[in-house]
Amino acid sequence: KAVVVAIDGPSGSGKSSVARGVARALGLAYLDTGAMYRAATWWCLHQDVPLTEVDEVAAQVEALPLVMGTDPAHPTVRVDGTDVGEAIRTTEISAAVSAVATNLAVRAELGRRQRAEIETARQTGSGIVAEGRDITTVVAPDADVRVLLTASEEARLARRAREVHGTDDAAAVEATRDQVLRRDADDSTVVEFHVAADGVVTVDSSDLDLEQTVQAVLDVVES
Ligand code: C5P
Repeated sequence: KAVVVAIDGPSGSGKSSVARGVARALGLAYLDTGAMYRAATWWCLHQDVPLTEVDEVAAQVEALPLVMGTDPAHPTVRVDGTDVGEAIRTTEISAAVSAVATNLAVRAELGRRQRAEIETARQTGSGIVAEGRDITTVVAPDADVRVLLTASEEARLARRAREVHGTDDAAAVEATRDQVLRRDADDSTVVEFHVAADGVVTVDSSDLDLEQTVQAVLDVVES
């Protein structure tokens, strides 16, 4: 039977690396839904659409020519044939993405596409690990396994500092603090990802390394 694993969590919880590790260990496809919101943001900025124009943003996202590559060893994001895998990780996109993700018409459209990816993985028998903010609750509440990946604020900021600045010294942590906490606060206005919904298993990664966290999620899958 094709397994569907849903993983949610705040930024810096290690979701993407953990979800990829789980997908690789189980031979499942991998869907990074945050990358879809980032790609939508990149596209709107690329088209010079002001992100405050909610109807125009929604129309652009409805027409977004987005193709997600779901191989966990090499996930790809293509917009209109262009590989945007790196372009969507800039601080400009990170700072702007919540404005697009809080647009409810955008959430409806990307949610529909995410459900379609998950349905395809079910039907073809490949199975999938999908990660984001609302996968356990809104996109795939019927997933076989649902995990909320949490970590202390300290651990999340240190992790993000290492990703962005290559170090978690005090200056690097300070440089990421406002960005990470503001984005989570903005995102929280439309989706809940700090408290596990009914039936969702919480995994706290604060004191675990990547391998241990992947194993903790695999334990949930096998339980
Ligand atoms: O996971 P990542 O940090 O790449 O997500 C980028 C942004 O995409 C989040 O800050 C949030 O605004 C949005 N997002 C969302 N719902 C999801 C996944 C991501 O709103 N399921």
